[in-house]
Amino acid sequence: MRALAILLCLYGMAEEALAARIQPGVSQELARVRARQIQDLRYDLRLEVPGEVSAPLRGEVDVDFVSAGGDVVLDFAGRAVDAVSRDGMAVEYRVESEHIVVPGVAAGPVSLRIRFVASDLALNRQPEFFYSLFVPNRAATAFPCFDQPDLKARFRLKMALPPGWTGVWNGEGDGETKPISTYLFAFAAGKFQAEEAERGGRRLRFFHRETDAKKVAANRDAIFDLHAQALAWLEDYTQQPYPFGKFDFVLVPSFQFGGMEHPGSIFYRASSLLLEPSATDAQKLARASLIAHETAHMWFGDLVTMRWFDDVWTKEVFANFMAAKIVEPSFPAIDHSLRFFLAHNPAAYEIDRSLGTHPIRQPLENLNDAASLYGPIIYQKAPLVMDQLERILGKERLRDGLREYLKTFAFANATWPELIAILDRRTERDLAAWSRVWVDEAERPTLRLRQVAGGWSLESRGKVWPQRFTLRSLEPASALKVEIASGATFARMDRSASWAIAAGDGYGYFALPRAGALALLRDVSKMTPERDWAERDRAAAWMSLWDHVEEGVLRAEEFLEAGVAAMAEESNELLAGRLAAWMSRAYWRSLRPESRMAMAPRLEALYWSRMEGAGTTSLRVTFFRAYLDIALTPGALERIEGIWGRKIEVAGIPFGEQDYMAMAWELALRGASNATAILDRQEAATKDPERKARFQFVRDAVAPDRERRRAFFAKLRDPANRSREPWVTEGLGYLHHPSRAAEAEEFLAPGLEMLEEIRRTGGIFFPKAWLDATLGGHSTPSAYRTVREYLRRHPDLPPRLRQKVLQASDGLRRSVTLRRAGPSNLREK
Ligand SMILES: [Zn+2]
Repeated sequence: MRALAILLCLYGMAEEALAARIQPGVSQELARVRARQIQDLRYDLRLEVPGEVSAPLRGEVDVDFVSAGGDVVLDFAGRAVDAVSRDGMAVEYRVESEHIVVPGVAAGPVSLRIRFVASDLALNRQPEFFYSLFVPNRAATAFPCFDQPDLKARFRLKMALPPGWTGVWNGEGDGETKPISTYLFAFAAGKFQAEEAERGGRRLRFFHRETDAKKVAANRDAIFDLHAQALAWLEDYTQQPYPFGKFDFVLVPSFQFGGMEHPGSIFYRASSLLLEPSATDAQKLARASLIAHETAHMWFGDLVTMRWFDDVWTKEVFANFMAAKIVEPSFPAIDHSLRFFLAHNPAAYEIDRSLGTHPIRQPLENLNDAASLYGPIIYQKAPLVMDQLERILGKERLRDGLREYLKTFAFANATWPELIAILDRRTERDLAAWSRVWVDEAERPTLRLRQVAGGWSLESRGKVWPQRFTLRSLEPASALKVEIASGATFARMDRSASWAIAAGDGYGYFALPRAGALALLRDVSKMTPERDWAERDRAAAWMSLWDHVEEGVLRAEEFLEAGVAAMAEESNELLAGRLAAWMSRAYWRSLRPESRMAMAPRLEALYWSRMEGAGTTSLRVTFFRAYLDIALTPGALERIEGIWGRKIEVAGIPFGEQDYMAMAWELALRGASNATAILDRQEAATKDPERKARFQFVRDAVAPDRERRRAFFAKLRDPANRSREPWVTEGLGYLHHPSRAAEAEEFLAPGLEMLEEIRRTGGIFFPKAWLDATLGGHSTPSAYRTVREYLRRHPDLPPRLRQKVLQASDGLRRSVTLRRAGPSNLREK
């Protein structure tokens, strides 16, 4: 009763304020009112797509719905509204703050027809193709609509296209889609080729622009099979058939994301699906996971959608969590608990240990800020939290709960608390309380491990993060289940062990005193299967060691030395790849140039000999890429040039065009004497027009001539030159490469100054990617001062954008503050 009274009162208040308080974007208040006002919504959209990129795109839309009465407020941030009519009659309307307001509409069926000119912001128009990308709130830049996730609608679409173009969208022919949210509505058109196959009685089809027919042929069956497997798995797990009828997808060149889950018309980045012949097992697994992720969204996100974008994480967590389960059977040789750990913990910790961390669930007042909610906390930390939830509930009860959730809210919307309520009924544990800490609080727990009388103590300060994990030691060998329920936990375990760590099932910083961390560093290579150590737990030990480096307990040099020793033996490709990445960070970020030069010959020799001796193509490629990443000596550069020039053959690695491009860039970056000639030759040799254009775009970023690098940065000031976001971040990463960091410092301040514009004009992942590429290579106090100065001068920076700066500059902050502390100041406790 009380809840009802409050709701009614809120509703009345809000409605009265609506027209008077129109503001740009979609406020939560506007969304709430409209969700109650509008029902049975349909859009019939007609678009006239000109071949000429600069010509505006015009359209007409019929918006049909049943209204509860009152002002109709549509969202529209396009170029112009030409006319609005209702049932064929011109109607009074006004255009205000990204809205079209039709005042005083009586309750009942409403049919509006609007002629408009679209904005190109979300249309990604290229000379031979274009595609829409509306997530999270950009549908309204293209056509007038109610652009909020809980006003699902049935869509029809007709596109008038230039001759020779093919169109694809969620629906088929003149038919109507199932009810979907505006951010999931999508269309693409252009000069595409199509591939078609039948799997399990269903037609699957994809559209692409790849010119290398061999590459398409080599990949097509795997791409279809992976989709079919994912669909079959999900239909079984959810006990609901695929909800959206047809199943098409588009391989978009240089697409902003890995993929986007538009039902009936998934968009993928072409290079994520069409792999090079040299692709490693890790890359094949990443492709399978991406396909499983987007397919899982058909149920989690598309069929049942979050009510508001503060719960956007729920769709992402299920997509990643289900993807991990889906890919398992297709990769029987892979240790999936290891993969789950490596795919989530390192990236989640990177944010959670930074000053820019935030809770999984974040409040959102206006949808125009929704893009800033995305990041590793949603994609990497949340699946770990879901894994905890599955361990609390048990696999079957979680699955049954999810089936009920999908059934209850099919073609509608739900909040996280609504799901927790369903699950809470299936357990004795208080899930709401658990959720309040893990979902609503920021950061990660720090648990200090110490030997005490009779065992080990695990102490944490501040709030308690309830969790269960395995505490392990090696000598004497022991594994003990520990449950954290308060600030101080006692574990009855042999205290003579020089260290104890949480296995890969724990979440947090498990802090050892320095002596313990050094002992762990010494022992990590002894954690073999013969001694009953799972690979995931060995990975957790390395993760913990890296944490101790980041927290200033261990020195980067100490980690590198142990890494060199371990790499001589490591045969697990996933772990070798991860370890190589941490070692690369230590090598480029923490070593001074002299020490790096001294370390280079040893690392080069190690990786080269591991590559030559590797038993599989995949492991060979893993070590070759590690070699390419750290190569510095003239001998190594000469060898890479020989491989690039086809003078030296590397047995067992089938290099593709992208590999040769990468070699050319790395050679130029490391100061090869004939860099310009190498770049010219590679550019001429690159056949595929899309890859050639990318090569031309990026090459100035690696140029030996500083003026050309300045020219590269200057061209990024024009938003039109930033439309291929992967090219931009790739080039920026080279521009700010650690080997040229000193010369790149001049681009730091201007790069930061562009951040707010990047946020306005770019996709949801672009601001963080821009920051990572800009800041990742730097480690000097002057670079850090530039970042602090920027934050100081911009006190009004939107809070979540500030968080991203703090996240991306965390490595820089740590290298500066730890260097200042010096090795003698390493914490002994
Ligand atoms: Zn997703």
